[in-house]
Amino acid sequence: MALSTPSAPAYVYFDNAATTPLDPEVLEAMLPFLQNHYGNPSSLHGPGRQVRAAIENARKTVAHLLNAAPAEIIFTSGGTEADNYAAFGSVRTLGLKHAITSKLEHHAVLHPLEALAKRGEVELHYVKHDEQGTLDLGHLEELLAGQSRTFVSLMHANNEIGNLNDIKAIGVICARYDAVFHTDTVQTMGHYRHDVQQLKNHFLVGSAHKFHGPKGVGFIYTRSGLQVSPLIHGGAQERNVRSGTENVYGIVGLAKALEIAVRDLAAHQAHVQGLKTRFIEKLRAEIDDVQFNGLSEYADKSLYTVLSVSLPPSAISEMLLFNLDISKVAASGGSACTSGAQAGSHVLEALGCDPDRATVRFSMSKMNTAAEVDYAVAALAKLYRPVAV
Ligand code: PLP
Repeated sequence: MALSTPSAPAYVYFDNAATTPLDPEVLEAMLPFLQNHYGNPSSLHGPGRQVRAAIENARKTVAHLLNAAPAEIIFTSGGTEADNYAAFGSVRTLGLKHAITSKLEHHAVLHPLEALAKRGEVELHYVKHDEQGTLDLGHLEELLAGQSRTFVSLMHANNEIGNLNDIKAIGVICARYDAVFHTDTVQTMGHYRHDVQQLKNHFLVGSAHKFHGPKGVGFIYTRSGLQVSPLIHGGAQERNVRSGTENVYGIVGLAKALEIAVRDLAAHQAHVQGLKTRFIEKLRAEIDDVQFNGLSEYADKSLYTVLSVSLPPSAISEMLLFNLDISKVAASGGSACTSGAQAGSHVLEALGCDPDRATVRFSMSKMNTAAEVDYAVAALAKLYRPVAV
């Protein structure tokens, strides 16, 4: 999407895995709750009740889209809080002594689990994966077999390299060992269908700003029957699971954004997958020795919104993102080490990627066009100069 505002020059925006632009239809749904409907949903008077009804409708919408019950949906401040709630809540309420994750998870999962391990509350185990990031499910089973009831957190799609994990199969393994299974679905919510009746997950997570909703609002699905204690205590909002006056316009926007995303999913998927394929073909044609991290290049094994490009060593590697920014291309990146201007990526490091190669992540949305792909590839090819040998 070419962004243009009176104060900002036009950018070609390919950082949709970081956040997506707000859909105008979503803004329209939110506006009445910013302008007119200001009642506190906990108040018993008319203005309060009206806002309470909007929250409950939003909950019903999200539940319906996931084939869940409304009581299984709790609104949060985003994906990070939802992941923290699942990890801290499960381990502490259920007294779990073991947790399993992988080194490729988002920090919103890794850091709470590491904090629990550091405090001696759980023993943390990591599922092995190969150099492309494919999880070793045999190893998961081995880990589960030797332990008491365990908390398992394995994501649906990786935010950096786009790898998709088979959460249905993982759920079956977890169920066999009575494990509590949490999946970070932040990057796939609104981009793939999730039917909780087809999955064995205890938790799924959504964050509105990843599917053209507002920032600072998300939700957690918790399978009925599993009760874990709150992360945030206070006025007993959200069925006493998540206290704090609700982010009403955010919640309304989240539900609208998810409704639109699911409604238009097939068309958007086809459009964005087409852009990704075009990116891969053009990059291969324009840049020698271009590679793709993880399973990013495979349409059936990776998120269609994410392309993780690995570029051979170059004098400008360290300044690649900065130079793309000067060319008005917004993308993100990382490398397998922390030296230089680019922040290190724990995911690329875990994959054993060559630290001398630069990585650029282009992440696309329904708002991008083929012309923007061509522009970004041309900008990268122009910048990119391999080291002469
Ligand atoms: N999990 C994954 C996989 C993500 O990509 C992100 C955001 O980048 C998060 C969790 C955190 O979500 P939020 O920004 O809503 O806190």
